[in-house]
Amino acid sequence: MISTNLTRIRAEIEAACQRVGRDPASVRLVVVSKTRTVEEIREVVAGGEMLFGENRVQEAQGKIPLVNHPAVQWHLIGPLQRNKVKIAVEMFQMIHSLDSLELAEEVSKRALLVRPMPVLLQVNVGREPQKTGIMAEEAVGLVRKLALLPGIILQGLMTIPPMTDRAEEARPWFRSLARLKEEILAEQIDGIGMQELSMGMSHDYAVAVEEGATLVRIGSAVFG
Ligand SMILES: *Cc1c(COP(=O)(O)O)cnc(C)c1O
Repeated sequence: MISTNLTRIRAEIEAACQRVGRDPASVRLVVVSKTRTVEEIREVVAGGEMLFGENRVQEAQGKIPLVNHPAVQWHLIGPLQRNKVKIAVEMFQMIHSLDSLELAEEVSKRALLVRPMPVLLQVNVGREPQKTGIMAEEAVGLVRKLALLPGIILQGLMTIPPMTDRAEEARPWFRSLARLKEEILAEQIDGIGMQELSMGMSHDYAVAVEEGATLVRIGSAVFG
């Protein structure tokens, strides 16, 4: 049941925070609602969670108006094509999946017409050829360019690490994203923030929280 799942997930986030001395309020749950129905989403809202992640603009475009709840927020967590940027800027409160300067320029252009757009830079920590996201060594250079783009508010980093069976195996990847954040902060680049780390999914979010995640993206553990 969704409400039972939410209770368990909140308890596990809190326990992970306690193990490493973090404030549980510093972690936000992004309920990943891709492929889920409006009814399922409403059940999560009734259970008290108001932040959802969708990975396809078109699917979100169909569902968001139907959920139609003033307190609910939507984050884009999947790939964004340039021709969908206009809609994405209008629909989402944050884009987790920014992965190129070209895309950033398009978001900037559109955001100037709508409202400033919070974004995260997606990093391919495992250097997997099939995955989107920039390489870690490109991050500082790209962040410097994003800092100069109007309309874009860089707030941190996101990653989807290589698939593993055991959550513990994801720890080094989460740690490398947290380290990259520190490296970027050390550059003292004006006009950007690095407060968010979007990492951790259903099977490994507790480990991600221990390593500093501020946004955990959880789908199957919520919906079953
Ligand atoms: C589907 C998805 C998730 C959630 O995955 P679960 O294993 O169902 O928790 C998280 N992040 C991204 C980018 C996704 O596409």
